[in-house]
Amino acid sequence: MPSSAAASAREILTRLHDVMAGRNPAQAKLNAVVGIIAEAMDSEVCSIYLLREGVLELFATRGLDQAAVHVTKLAMGEGLVGSIAEDVEVLNLDEAASHPDFAYKPETGEERYHSFAGVPIIRRERAVGVLAVQHSEQRKYQDVEIEALQTVAMVLSELIANAGLIDTATTGVDRPQSTAAVRLPGQKLVEGMASGHAVFHQPRIVVEHTVAEDTDAERHRVYAAFDKMREQIERMTREAEFGVDGEHKEVLETYKMFAYDEGWARRINEAIDSGLTAEAAIERVQQRTRQRMRQIDDPLLADRMHDLEDLANRLLRIVSGQMGTAAQMGLRQDTILIARNLGPAELLEYDKRRLKGVILEEGSLTAHVTIVARAMGVPVLGRVRDVRRLIAEGDLLLLDSVAGNVFVRPSAAMEEAFDAKLTLRQKRKAAFAALRDVPPVTRDGHRVTLMVNAGLRDDVAALDITGADGIGLFRTEFQFLVSATLPQRERQQRLYREVLDAAGTRPVIFRTVDIGGDKALPYLNKEDADEENPAMGWRALRLALDRDGLMKVQARALIEAASGRTLNVMFPMVSEAWEFAEAKALFEAQRAWLDARGRRAPLAIRYGAMLEVPALAEQLDLLLPDIDFLSVGTNDLTQFLFAADRANPRLAERYDWLSPSILRFLQRVIGPCRDAGVDLGVCGEMGGRPVEAMALIGLGIDRLSITPAAVGPIKAMVRSLDHAAVRAFVAELIARPPRDMRGALTDWAGRNGVDLA
Ligand code: PEP
Ligand code: MG
Repeated sequence: MPSSAAASAREILTRLHDVMAGRNPAQAKLNAVVGIIAEAMDSEVCSIYLLREGVLELFATRGLDQAAVHVTKLAMGEGLVGSIAEDVEVLNLDEAASHPDFAYKPETGEERYHSFAGVPIIRRERAVGVLAVQHSEQRKYQDVEIEALQTVAMVLSELIANAGLIDTATTGVDRPQSTAAVRLPGQKLVEGMASGHAVFHQPRIVVEHTVAEDTDAERHRVYAAFDKMREQIERMTREAEFGVDGEHKEVLETYKMFAYDEGWARRINEAIDSGLTAEAAIERVQQRTRQRMRQIDDPLLADRMHDLEDLANRLLRIVSGQMGTAAQMGLRQDTILIARNLGPAELLEYDKRRLKGVILEEGSLTAHVTIVARAMGVPVLGRVRDVRRLIAEGDLLLLDSVAGNVFVRPSAAMEEAFDAKLTLRQKRKAAFAALRDVPPVTRDGHRVTLMVNAGLRDDVAALDITGADGIGLFRTEFQFLVSATLPQRERQQRLYREVLDAAGTRPVIFRTVDIGGDKALPYLNKEDADEENPAMGWRALRLALDRDGLMKVQARALIEAASGRTLNVMFPMVSEAWEFAEAKALFEAQRAWLDARGRRAPLAIRYGAMLEVPALAEQLDLLLPDIDFLSVGTNDLTQFLFAADRANPRLAERYDWLSPSILRFLQRVIGPCRDAGVDLGVCGEMGGRPVEAMALIGLGIDRLSITPAAVGPIKAMVRSLDHAAVRAFVAELIARPPRDMRGALTDWAGRNGVDLA
């Protein structure tokens, strides 16, 4: 906006500010506003229409017949005003009556006026009203005049919201451009169905104050926010260069381009010059960009627009100091959470009772956030494109990750179909629940051990619900992830004892902390956590052996918690046999220390290792004599065998767990374990999927520790399986692997009556 236009907009805003600050009722304020605008723009008519009960109602006018106020009403899409609101677009006409959408309203007396300009009054990206001016002469309004109207419309949206003049229940909250029902496809990361309302992990900022008190101060706020945002982008780019974070490189490149775009910064400054606050100026420029982009139908540009939206929201969050996530602000209702990506600790911050589902733009099957969600029983749909354009805060969503999609603002027919499917699913769940007390025995009498993976105190309830044989993997780091500070020994001990008490006679395998990788702790030394490649970095047992204070505390907590019972303890990421030996020695030293002080010891301590690093497989002869059990962590094992980051969404579907490489690797381990009398199990996500579990049993693995929700389906599969037959079939497959291993196994299951759910 040229500086003279900025000056006149500022003058209008100053006058509006005085009106808004006054104590008059809202209607009087609106009457004053139309007067100010009409005068400032030298126009014969100025009118404000607001959306009430789904209809645009004339709320105030200068120039039209006063009798029309609260009488003239237009539906969305009806007449010029209705189409401005529906399309969220400006209209600028020298002859209103010749426009195809023109609808004549005799009570207004508007036939005298020829030219017409109207702008939408926008709240949370949706039109909640229209501000219009009219002249009797035929003229097109200049760009600067339209700009001024739009700036005023922003201020009006604040006035309207503060006065409660629009009814958010009927206007909907945060509607994007479209209000139609849509189905968005994605990838099933955690199976389940849920309905709830959309909540953004990083909420959009709603601008509350639009008129600046001190323009210079606002300018400084924007400068500082730009600096901070650029710093953040630089840091993200640096991290991405080392493969951290899962942020897409092109996205970051685009972020960077926008973050340093002089044009963007200048336009925001100009908006501040016109009298807006920093927040309102950012939003104002964003509105203008959205409007331009809507006129260009180019999917590539639309993608870039999302990135700019993201960045503008980031700038708004910085400038307004509202940096918290939706979790920190508290959930109010059944929520389907929406994020580009999440860390496991971020997810754990959410209230489990209200969080019904998660939709991610990125995400992968074995990322820890997915595992945590699975443990929480929260369905997750990943790799959903365009969510932030197509879903708005508050939208009703029906998440069906089983079918790999989400219905946004569903139609009645969609809701019906969803409910019918949910009922069927619940019946099937009930059928699985009925298997609770029957053992996982194959048709030919072979007993398989089915245990559950857990990590939070509440997860233990899964034992009774599923009838599992025990907890095959208790991820002790979850307690560390949910704590703001390092959990002290007493707190750790209390948790372990509660878990053992709840498990009763069923075994619990505690895994010592696996921190690092995508499970960074916020309170851990920052430079320790800043690694170029944390999944292969200083994590799990490596960190625990170097910082042995941490492991000593945990050892003591575990040993004391298990006094009078058997303690099963397992070490993660063992890469060489000596690491296991050192960890075991550390535990034994703690046991001796406690013994010397007369503390009641566990009846026995059984030690195990996780096989996640392929190198360990080459040292089985050194390791097996010292261990009681071995548990294969297929999540990490797969990422290291294939050199494919488990958290990278691009690689999420690239390699199959049923690849001959994995099956053959496991086959090589089974024999030595059997010969050494070492109990072998699998505790990665692989074991919780029916076809994969069938293949594992076919290989000769008899202990699976899986996510609780999978116990029913896996038990059903086991009970429909012939053990001898699957052993023979898998042996054949491994010797001469077909190109499509999954297809071969699935076909075989079909032919042999195996229930693959
Ligand atoms: C694994 O890597 O397979 C495993 C079970 O451990 P986590 O998923 O916790 O890394
Ligand atoms: Mg692991």
